[in-house]
Amino acid sequence: MSLTITALSVGRVFGLHKPSVLYLRGWGETLDIPLIMFVIQGGGAPVIVDTGADLDRAVKHHGIRMEQTPEERPEAALRALGVDPAEVGVVVNTHLHWDHSSNNHLFPNARIVVQQREVDYASNPVPWHRRQFEHVPELEAAWRRAEDRIDAIDGDAEVAPGVSVIALPGHTPGSQGVVVEAETRRYLLAGDCIDLYENWAGDAQAEHIPSGFFTDIVAYNDSLERIEKLGCEVIPSHDPLVVRRREFR
Ligand SMILES: [Zn+2]
Repeated sequence: MSLTITALSVGRVFGLHKPSVLYLRGWGETLDIPLIMFVIQGGGAPVIVDTGADLDRAVKHHGIRMEQTPEERPEAALRALGVDPAEVGVVVNTHLHWDHSSNNHLFPNARIVVQQREVDYASNPVPWHRRQFEHVPELEAAWRRAEDRIDAIDGDAEVAPGVSVIALPGHTPGSQGVVVEAETRRYLLAGDCIDLYENWAGDAQAEHIPSGFFTDIVAYNDSLERIEKLGCEVIPSHDPLVVRRREFR
């Protein structure tokens, strides 16, 4: 299979507290990170993994500093790659946090693949997680704009030839990764199970470092161990180096 993955920046977030991305590390330090939409091409219809944020809602409701150039708007970034949003057959949300799932409605003909456990949790999160899922009274969650096209699944599944989702719970209950059999090797789009290359590389204290945000740290560890056994090159969800490299063949 000659699948390729392209990492498109669909916005950038500034001044994140480092321990929110690297568990209990980097107190007092901040990070600037990209929001990435991945496009898998070369099989049948293109597959999209994660759809980024909605700039207006992000600024108004999430109290963050975010920038999105006209070229970084998801439709524009896709069209520049020669992809019409209407031809996308499958959208995978690695999870339903607002910065990964706010533009599902831009893909009118896509089946939207999400874990059932994620839909359940996003509909009833603990109070400290409500903002991330936009489960708040003043706002209808952006992912619900395409809720009628969600295909809620349970566990691992092939979603297109050479493209499979695998359950990686921990960051959220229904977090999932996407394994892609590309031209030269097998890749894992890890979602927020692995935000940065630094999370995967670990440090002197730990082989890998979880995100600072999670619902189940024990399940999270199992997911990291599962990734070790996949034999994949890991592609993190928010690392600037991923955008710089852009193409994974
Ligand atoms: Zn997340």
